[in-house]
Amino acid sequence: MLNIILFGPPGAGKGTQSEKLIAKYHLCHISTGDLLRSEMAKKTELGLAAKKYMDSGSLVPDDVVIGMIRNKLAQDSSGPGCIFDGFPRTVAQAEALDELLSETGNTITLMIALQVEADELIKRLVKRGETSGRSDDTEETARKRIEVYDRETSPVANYYAKQDKYHAVDGVGEVNDIFNRICQVVGVPV
Ligand code: AMP
Repeated sequence: MLNIILFGPPGAGKGTQSEKLIAKYHLCHISTGDLLRSEMAKKTELGLAAKKYMDSGSLVPDDVVIGMIRNKLAQDSSGPGCIFDGFPRTVAQAEALDELLSETGNTITLMIALQVEADELIKRLVKRGETSGRSDDTEETARKRIEVYDRETSPVANYYAKQDKYHAVDGVGEVNDIFNRICQVVGVPV
């Protein structure tokens, strides 16, 4: 299986590049942000509990997110592989993911880490907020989310670097140019 973690701070382009990777490699898409927003829209207990964390730009607790991934992997275990978008965001989530995948004899193939400077991220998130309808795409919350990324999420890169799976990709420029850089790392279509 080809299991790719698309990694990077909020606004790095993970969602956009995920769509292109899915179209090319026929992978399933696992975005914890999308799953949480869908729970919020359905006003489930989980969604209502997650809302306060998401609105403030903090991370939703690990046990909630890992439980969601466990259910999702049980549904998507066949097929050529998955893109993990916005997950894992803590080292505890990365460890849980390795363990869950190993239960079916699978593993993460590689991590693509999109590199974008903070000023550019804020610009992109504020612009996205004009049309996304996302309550966390404001300048203040964007700054908070980037701080949370630096503090809690960036160590996840090192976790995969130690497994020789980490690949940094410049995330600035035309969408198709960035996609070509990613494809050079991923290699031949499966
Ligand atoms: P995203 O759509 O990936 O930018 O995620 C939006 C928000 O959902 C984040 O700011 C967090 O509050 C929450 N979230 C998404 N994925 C995770 C995760 N893996 N761990 C904890 N919180 C998450």
